[in-house]
Amino acid sequence: MKREADALGWPETSGAGPLGDGRFATAVHRPSTVDELCDAVRAEVENSGAVYPQGGASALDYGRPPGRPGAAVDVSSLNRIVDYPHADMTITVQAGMSVAALQGILAEQNQRLLIDVPRPDRATLGGALATGVCGPRRLGLGRPRDSIIGVSFVTSNAVEVKGGGRVVKNVAGYDFPKLLTGSMGTLGIITQATLKVRPLPGASALIWLRADGPERLDEWLVGFGASALRPVAVEFLNPTAARIIAGAAGLAGDSWTLVVGIEDDVNSVAWQVDRFRTEIGRSDFDVLRDEATAPLWKALTEFQVETPGAFACSASLRPSRVAAFLADLPPERWALQAHAGVGVVRMQAIGEWSEDEAAAAVAAKRAQAVGDGGNLIVTRCPTSWKARLRVWGEPRADWALGRAVKAALDPRNVMNPGRFVGEDE
Ligand SMILES: Cc1cc2nc3c(=O)[nH]c(=O)nc-3n(C[C@H](O)[C@H](O)[C@H](O)COP(=O)(O)OP(=O)(O)OC[C@H]3O[C@@H](n4cnc5c(N)ncnc54)[C@H](O)[C@@H]3O)c2cc1C
Repeated sequence: MKREADALGWPETSGAGPLGDGRFATAVHRPSTVDELCDAVRAEVENSGAVYPQGGASALDYGRPPGRPGAAVDVSSLNRIVDYPHADMTITVQAGMSVAALQGILAEQNQRLLIDVPRPDRATLGGALATGVCGPRRLGLGRPRDSIIGVSFVTSNAVEVKGGGRVVKNVAGYDFPKLLTGSMGTLGIITQATLKVRPLPGASALIWLRADGPERLDEWLVGFGASALRPVAVEFLNPTAARIIAGAAGLAGDSWTLVVGIEDDVNSVAWQVDRFRTEIGRSDFDVLRDEATAPLWKALTEFQVETPGAFACSASLRPSRVAAFLADLPPERWALQAHAGVGVVRMQAIGEWSEDEAAAAVAAKRAQAVGDGGNLIVTRCPTSWKARLRVWGEPRADWALGRAVKAALDPRNVMNPGRFVGEDE
């Protein structure tokens, strides 16, 4: 069906669904087999010349705006388990399965995925891998690129390419699984992935310790690094983030807060909580245990998709620079969650901001992050601010390599044109 379109060819009605940033698709394909998906890509290379992969459509506004009119390819009907040899602790799954469904299947074998994903009922495995999403347990469980060992994806030539394999020891060839992870759907449409999984922990504890400010964070991080403690998460919250996260978890909190997550067998968790008390030299903290930890884990994972104000950023830093980075950001303007153990700071702007104020704040904190060897990306903002705020951060020397890989795999720039780093930068 032909849809009303503006002068650039963008549909003016939402009939084929959103592409993000207020743009609508020219058509939507919902393949339920890889052959159908290849047919859809082949047809769209002819028709519109642009293909926008979609999973749960929970993060379509992430990145730069779509570059030109094109069709959505929704992979959520590719949602089968392909192979689950649970004794080998790997699973091969089609990319459209929701993360919650996958977590449920693994839990039946007392196993789990190694990625914290917000809104798992909606988010798909393919979307989680394409965005490289991570959460509080990245310190202990690693990033998506650390758990993926095999991938299949459909390129703009409408053929399925396979990389990696289904066994952990597999070192031959280019590392396509890691290349596709975090590629934002710009290199191809992920159809299937093989992941390492792990047993569910026997016990879990979350320690909630109020702090006067960020001054002692550095000392604590150094201490944890040198101690026998093995936390899976070390989080540091400013008072505003503590209020949001505590509220979502049914707790009370409105001060700077250190949250330490421990997961292991029952004896190890009990020992580590005792050890934490000794090392930190305080007993005035709360400890949630086992099932009671679930709402707080969820709130710590979902904070990055909260929308309390106009825009949000994510900074990557050396862990030793996190305390200084947080110190000059006023809590009445910012809610801040640091995955302090890995040096990632989630920044939610609070209340009203003009574009000029946002641009000045982003430039200042980005300069600080870049000066410390990191970067700062804008994860959410009005579409009209995106170019000025340069959502993917300060250009880096290795973007040229990324562009060369894109040119080799998608020479006609069919896949998610406009979205990712490097274009027009
Ligand atoms: C910086 C950042 C911002 C986020 N913002 C939000 C947010 O505002 N709201 C929210 O609910 N969650 C957000 N998330 C978390 C999001 O839920 C996860 O990244 C999630 O796993 C996305 O899954 P999805 O299936 O919904 O992906 P979608 O939203 O459908 O797609 C997200 C991106 O991944 C690509 N993609 C999806 N599936 C495939 C595939 N099979 N192959 C190739 N590319 C694919 C899409 O083209 C798109 O660029 C954010 C994550 C990050 C890292």
